[in-house]
Amino acid sequence: MSDIIRLLPDHVANQIAAGEVVQRPASVVKELLENAIDADAREISLIVKDSGKTLIQVIDDGKGMSTMDARMAFERHATSKIQSADELFNLSTKGFRGEALASVAAVSHVTIKTKRPEDDLGTTISIEGSKVIAQEPAVAPVGTTVSVRNLFYNVPARRKFLKSDNVELRNVTNEFHRVALAHPKIHFKFSHNGSDLFNLPAGTYRQRIVNVMGHKVDDKLVEIKEETELLNIHGYIGKPEYARKTKGLQYFFVNDRFIKHSYLHHAVSSAFEGLLSQGSNPSYFLFLDVPPDSVDINIHPTKTEVKFEDEHSLYAIIRASVKHALGQFTINTIDFQKDTELDVPYEVSRSAIKSPRIEVDPDFNPFNDTGSSRKVHQHIQKPAGSWESLYAGLDDTSVLHDETVTSPRNSTSLFNDDVEQTGSSIFQLQRKFIISTLQSGLLVINQHRAHERVLYEQLLRQLTVQNGVSQQLLFPVKINRSPDEVDIVKQLQSQLESVGFLFGIIENNVIEIQGLPLDLKEPQVEPLLDVVIKSEQEQVPQQQDAQLQRMAAQLAGQMAIKTGEQLRVEQMQQVIDELFACEEPALSPAGKKVFITITGDTLSSKFDH
Ligand code: ADP
Ligand code: MG
Repeated sequence: MSDIIRLLPDHVANQIAAGEVVQRPASVVKELLENAIDADAREISLIVKDSGKTLIQVIDDGKGMSTMDARMAFERHATSKIQSADELFNLSTKGFRGEALASVAAVSHVTIKTKRPEDDLGTTISIEGSKVIAQEPAVAPVGTTVSVRNLFYNVPARRKFLKSDNVELRNVTNEFHRVALAHPKIHFKFSHNGSDLFNLPAGTYRQRIVNVMGHKVDDKLVEIKEETELLNIHGYIGKPEYARKTKGLQYFFVNDRFIKHSYLHHAVSSAFEGLLSQGSNPSYFLFLDVPPDSVDINIHPTKTEVKFEDEHSLYAIIRASVKHALGQFTINTIDFQKDTELDVPYEVSRSAIKSPRIEVDPDFNPFNDTGSSRKVHQHIQKPAGSWESLYAGLDDTSVLHDETVTSPRNSTSLFNDDVEQTGSSIFQLQRKFIISTLQSGLLVINQHRAHERVLYEQLLRQLTVQNGVSQQLLFPVKINRSPDEVDIVKQLQSQLESVGFLFGIIENNVIEIQGLPLDLKEPQVEPLLDVVIKSEQEQVPQQQDAQLQRMAAQLAGQMAIKTGEQLRVEQMQQVIDELFACEEPALSPAGKKVFITITGDTLSSKFDH
């Protein structure tokens, strides 16, 4: 028998490779727009017919190509942008793989007309299915026009899989948005079937966002700007009350390139958590600048998925920056009925996400204070620990048991220094509320919701960084459930483990539990798992971050101190301290009020008659 292995002809190889880069009209739009940007164009027009199925044309006023280069451009791995693999790690251009034009030309009819400023005459080239049909000198303006006609004319299977015109046009438009948002200094135009859809003059980032998304968004944007050694962030986030039920407008750009990154997305949405009503999504336009050698954009042909060197630090910085921006916004606009003291916990919580600062208390007065404010401050900055363990071993430090230290009136200026210092200023009402005094009146905290909030933030942290602490059970607990239910637990296993669960076997209809999160008591386990299972069954599948938030909220709800539980003064103090160390103390995970304040004025008015 003769040998059977053959090299594929070039045009077939190109067609196969094209599948990676060119999936739909929108992919062509992206590649052509990016080439125009790389050519330093100041103005770029996109002209599309029939959602790109008939024509995609991009006209730029960039640097053009020589006759030779125009021909070379269609060869696979032909690029002017890098010369060696080293340069892959220091990219400043959009393209670099030299694949786009070759791929596009393999599956369509392409014409290029191009002229460099230094040439008198330009060039035009026509290619069909990777074959050059014609090449001749041409009169042309400076720049390049690429016209792509009859996409997938020779790949019927792909053409058949294109979506309706509406859907493909939406994809094209999304791609246009992404590129236009990342480059506000370039003038972009876009027309479809002869009607102008966008005309975006050069401007600022904010102007560009407003021009692209519509004037309605203008007053919904909160600016964000943060510079750190690892990255600079600038851009805008949508005010929480304008969050959308549909998918939010969510844009990440890294070094002017639109990217998708679910981990960083989680950083942003977790910064919003507690501020959004259920089911609504935050919007953001975030521009990250990182050193080119700290990001790998070469992991996927379309270059929308990237890998960062230090994702965990980026996560923390992005989350903190968004919180910071939201915090400022919140303080400026939420009506606290002039209860200005309430701003303080937000200050504290915001500072807690930055690096620890030098603790100098300007109000510190050794003569009327026991010198404790520093300690309390440290305490507030400490990440919330486990509920029970907080009391272990504290006797010798006397920090928490020293009433003068832990009393809220001494902790920060939130609490009044001139409240009568007689007895405890914290007490429990109806085994439901914790009452404490404020400079301006009374603070009434719902004990269950407050502890829910504390645990929620703690659990969410554990779920995200996966560092939950477990207590081993002496005797493993076996729970019997239906195979379907056991299967759900199996799917959630890694998440449950990251908050401290330890599992033995999970199969058929048995779930074996060998360890529990520190805060969880054995009798709580079964009801808790049932809540988790039930909610998984009822919920539509969600993005991972929404799922984590849901799980954290459920666990917190189950584990938190209940209404009806009697609390010791130290426990109440602990709840207060931890609550105000939270990032969003005012709302429970379900978005309900955690505390109210009753001002002295309100009290006085009750005594008016
Ligand atoms: P890449 O962008 O990865 O280099 P492409 O296949 O997209 O690969 O383009 C190949 C080459 O063609 C580019 O490197 C560039 O030199 C040239 N080119 C493509 N489009 C343009 C344009 N609009 N203006 C000037 N040169 C272009
Ligand atoms: Mg390119």
